[in-house]
Amino acid sequence: GVVISGRGVGKTFANGAVVALEGASFDIPKGDFVSLVGPSGCGKSTLLRMVAGLIDRTSGTLTVHGQPVKGPRRDVGLMFQKATLLDWRTSLENVLLPTEMVRKPTQADEDEAIELLNMVGLKDFVFSFPSQLSGGMQQRVALARLLKTGADILLLDEPFGALDEFTRERLNLELMRIVAEVKATTLFVTHNIGEAIFLADKVMVMTPRPGRLARMVEVPFARP
Ligand code: ADP
Ligand code: ADP
Repeated sequence: GVVISGRGVGKTFANGAVVALEGASFDIPKGDFVSLVGPSGCGKSTLLRMVAGLIDRTSGTLTVHGQPVKGPRRDVGLMFQKATLLDWRTSLENVLLPTEMVRKPTQADEDEAIELLNMVGLKDFVFSFPSQLSGGMQQRVALARLLKTGADILLLDEPFGALDEFTRERLNLELMRIVAEVKATTLFVTHNIGEAIFLADKVMVMTPRPGRLARMVEVPFARP
């Protein structure tokens, strides 16, 4: 079934009435990896934040699992270009952070966190601090932390966009494997068309219009 559905989703910001998004319509089926591609400023992040329930739309309807989005949800996780890890906490302690918001972590939580760090290739860095990790490794910690929330809808806003091309390509490949393994529904924002096509089951293209922004079309591709 459809997990995320938008009909005419638009956003006009109050200050200066910036039209960030002009009315995007789309359906994202369960388990799909969908890339959202378009030039800078076309409204990709704005759409993602609306799906995540962090900002309100000003037009249209937007549902997750058939329910109108009204705020952040437990089953929707968001990840940004720059990991917001706590410097004074180890990888493990960072991954346990979302759990701590809800309850006191158990041994099972700790085991799961270590398993997730293993999954993202950081088996040997469980007790490392962020300052001891490369940028790519820090994003891996952020991905493990996201997975620890139990969210099965992953909204990734250029998660590896700040990294060099080689690291990014490698992490993208691992991301494909990981989201397939955890059976997540994934919306992946990038401004790189090649990356978008390579990674995804479907590509949503947002195009800027003169002066204003944006229209969305959905382009299906066969995955390699
Ligand atoms: P993208 O992610 O595709 O680069 P964004 O969604 O970040 O695009 O931004 C879309 C447009 O909305 C841009 O013109 C941006 O300047 C504007 N915008 C984004 N956030 C805000 C905000 N909080 N207030 C006003 N304008 C904003
Ligand atoms: P990533 O692609 O995850 O950013 P790098 O390409 O920077 O990783 O590093 C490649 C490998 O080198 C890592 O998988 C890790 O095993 C090791 N490594 C990177 N940074 C460090 C570090 N600060 N301390 C120890 N080993 C490191």
